Amino acid sequence: MSRVKLEEELNLMLPETNEQNLLNFKSILPHFYYTKITNNRIIRTLNPETRYKQDSYIDSEFELNEQRRAFFPVDLGVNMDIAFKLYQKEIYYIFENNRELYSILDEHKIRFRSLVDYSSFSTNSLTAGKQEVKLFKFLMKYNIMPKRNIDIINNFKLGNKEDMYVCISRNPIDMLFCATNQSFTSCEDLSSNWQSAYYMGLGALTLDPNRCIVFLTTDRLKKYTIKGHEFKHFRYISRSWGLLGIYNTFTIVRYYPTRSIKFGDYISISKKYKIIKQSRFIKSKFLFNPGFYEGGKYISIYNDNIAPEIGKRKRIRYFNHGESYSLTDWNWSGGFEKLQKYNNLLGYRSCSICNNDISSDDTWKDCSGNFYCQVCYNKKYFYCGNCDTEYLNSEHKFKLYAETRYCIGCYNRIFFKCGKCNNETRRTYMSIENPGICKDCDTKTKTVSDNSPKFHWNVRQNPLTINYIEEVSPTWD
Ligand SMILES: [Zn+2]
Ligand SMILES: [Zn+2]
Ligand SMILES: [Zn+2]
Repeated sequence: MSRVKLEEELNLMLPETNEQNLLNFKSILPHFYYTKITNNRIIRTLNPETRYKQDSYIDSEFELNEQRRAFFPVDLGVNMDIAFKLYQKEIYYIFENNRELYSILDEHKIRFRSLVDYSSFSTNSLTAGKQEVKLFKFLMKYNIMPKRNIDIINNFKLGNKEDMYVCISRNPIDMLFCATNQSFTSCEDLSSNWQSAYYMGLGALTLDPNRCIVFLTTDRLKKYTIKGHEFKHFRYISRSWGLLGIYNTFTIVRYYPTRSIKFGDYISISKKYKIIKQSRFIKSKFLFNPGFYEGGKYISIYNDNIAPEIGKRKRIRYFNHGESYSLTDWNWSGGFEKLQKYNNLLGYRSCSICNNDISSDDTWKDCSGNFYCQVCYNKKYFYCGNCDTEYLNSEHKFKLYAETRYCIGCYNRIFFKCGKCNNETRRTYMSIENPGICKDCDTKTKTVSDNSPKFHWNVRQNPLTINYIEEVSPTWD
């Protein structure tokens, strides 16, 4: 397996681009909310002169270049193209099971042989008599192959006009972009809305001396801005993690989004190391300290089946438990960009007016999705306890009853002001015989009339004279 010439390797990402990326990385590092000590350790790994020997181990053992990468060219011949293999299998299967399809080919003067030809597949074109037709369009139009299967094949299909490489990398930017701004996503995407915010560990991956990222890429870079800093990064057709294990083993785990090619077939690593299949039990070569968040928790760089074994002096070694495991469970679903402070990770949001921390139980959200503490919400809005409508205080008035706010319309529908005692109370508490009068006053009237036979209590009030609290035309819904 040949390696790309060093000169060419360093041209895949220009040295000045790499430098700028690392400067940007330092600038966004505080937004991961690690301790100062952890940040200093991370910064130390960025420079080969200040790096610990252990952190440079993969670099020297696998002969990574000064950008901490090694590239291996990928030539996808007929036999290596998984998408084509899938396609071929599928076509043979379909035609074997439905002989009538041959008549569609005859009709269009298409030879079966050209249908299963690699050049038709890779150029997506088919010779139909004297015409050229688009291969996949044709297959879909005549219901030869279902769209779902075409999608699966396309998912495996690699661009065939560009140079392709498998890269082994210890570059922190390559790890940072393991799922961000790619054609696929995962919980490690900086914009992921997973509550556990697993991407918070990405800034500290470089502290793991056992780990490198392995990816399939072309020579085209992509741009992406994080916290105001523009990075240029490799576009991954697929990627996975390489892990150094005990007994000189190297394992490639977790292909994303698919294992379009087997990376182990393309890379060459130090002869001392044996590439092994992912097993139930992987124990890392080095014990190391994964670093800490401001609040004292371990940085969550392990999930994906890799659980930590915590040893003396807070150093850890990981091994494969065969189940998901994480050191940190955050409660933040806003993604990295919206994160403003460490407390956000604990489920606290910031009030959009006073900027105070608000816990999730105490968070008020307006209809535009802004968050408020209760005090600020109540200053800006009121929420009618009856019609479930949010009103701006600056535009509408509310009435209070038993500490609940009501819009004027609802209030007048539910409450009335007693014509005798002037108390405001529920309409359900209005006397039936004497509308406009509360039941209390009504009972008193009756009591009085019972005691003095001279007084006739049936002085009915005209229902139309019920005292409204405010003159509004009630709207009934
Ligand atoms: Zn507030
Ligand atoms: Zn209302
Ligand atoms: Zn009354």
